[in-house]
Amino acid sequence: MKSHERVVVVGGSFGGVNAAYELRRRLPRDAEITVISRDADFTFIPSLPWVIMGWRDPSRLQVRLDAPLQRRRIRFVHGEVKELDPQKCEIRTASQAHPYDALVIASGAELDYAAVPGLGPEAGHTYSTFTATEAMAARDALAKVLAADEGRIVIGAAAGASCVGPAYEIVMMIDTVLKKFRKRHRFSLTFVTPEPFLGHFGVGGIGASPGMVQDEFAERHIESVVNARIASAAPGRLILADGSEYPFDFSLVIPAFLGSPFVRAVDGMANPKGFIMVTPQLASTTIPNISAVGVAVAIAPPGPTPVPVAVPKTGHMTELMARAAARNVAAEFTGGAKVDGMTLPSTCIADAGDTAFYMFADPFLPPRNKVIVKRGKWARYLKLTFEQYYLARIRHDLPSMDFGW
Ligand SMILES: Cc1cc2nc3c(=O)[nH]c(=O)nc-3n(C[C@H](O)[C@H](O)[C@H](O)COP(=O)(O)OP(=O)(O)OC[C@H]3O[C@@H](n4cnc5c(N)ncnc54)[C@H](O)[C@@H]3O)c2cc1C
Repeated sequence: MKSHERVVVVGGSFGGVNAAYELRRRLPRDAEITVISRDADFTFIPSLPWVIMGWRDPSRLQVRLDAPLQRRRIRFVHGEVKELDPQKCEIRTASQAHPYDALVIASGAELDYAAVPGLGPEAGHTYSTFTATEAMAARDALAKVLAADEGRIVIGAAAGASCVGPAYEIVMMIDTVLKKFRKRHRFSLTFVTPEPFLGHFGVGGIGASPGMVQDEFAERHIESVVNARIASAAPGRLILADGSEYPFDFSLVIPAFLGSPFVRAVDGMANPKGFIMVTPQLASTTIPNISAVGVAVAIAPPGPTPVPVAVPKTGHMTELMARAAARNVAAEFTGGAKVDGMTLPSTCIADAGDTAFYMFADPFLPPRNKVIVKRGKWARYLKLTFEQYYLARIRHDLPSMDFGW
């Protein structure tokens, strides 16, 4: 290996931190590894729905990134990447240029609230769940509505959304809380989704998930609207493209994603939505010394749907991609076999407040070799335990336990 290889990783979440730790394990001691992240903290995003329910303080879900990375001799830069120059092999924040020999992009996505007029917590009328700030705003608004004697709650996802799972969790958790306070009979709960059927999740369903979710919603009296294209949100009203309207006192809608602006600005690297096109080894199809992992990667849906639904990139899958990409980057420098980072399994646990759904699919997209879908309180306890283990893992680079969450 040449001395002092420089690998830069963009992103300090599931993709970025796991890629950096794995690179440290696989690259020689003198290799320079830098993580650049817009957020100073790692946030355990899968627990943000619990913040909305008032069951978690966001500070419990966050780990300051600088110290754990520095302990592993990984340089941490807290800053936002503004520009990527693949010709010069340089990535730039507002104040600094970072040259690289290899670049791993794990910058996730931007939230495309602007695609639907009136959507989103900042400029619109609906709440969301992608950051601690968004979750706290939703928590405060929801608490007020739940304190009333009656109300209308509409939870859903916009056309083109990929991460619909949290919307399912939130609507079932709200149902659980209302039942606990014996108020459920005075509230309507409506679920509005672009999916062609409940439990589709952007992947055509996972085993028995469609039937199980449909039964669960029937038992919980959650009204559902599938193939829904939200046209706009007005104060207290969600308006669909077919003209139907859903009045609400509280609404949370998952937006579609767009790739990071610095990625979209590079010619030919990303698909029209800004997600990076990669080889099975997770290298960019156009720029070989750039790799991508997690939400930043373009994955085609398994089939067309009347209203677009994108493929989710789960945390478990993102972590496996990060480890595969790091291994392949290291193989470029030190030799060794490369691995497939696209045909991966995924484990997910969707909490419902009083029970949970455990879903495992291998590979994540059909046709699959193995599928497990189970419902039970034990899955809730597993999810609760996994959160704490994962935060400890980010703090201390603990070994992976691939049972997902
Ligand atoms: C509410 C919710 C619940 C979820 N629940 C589950 C679950 O139960 N199970 C599961 O498997 N998955 C779940 N997921 C999905 C999981 O959170 C994602 O798979 C995971 O966060 C993807 O990680 P990532 O690193 O690809 O991207 P992200 O988590 O989006 O992280 C992107 C990182 O890049 C940084 N960044 C972005 N742009 C820039 C820039 N220009 N410059 C520098 N840094 C930048 C950000 O600061 C961040 O650190 C959930 C997601 C949500 C929103």
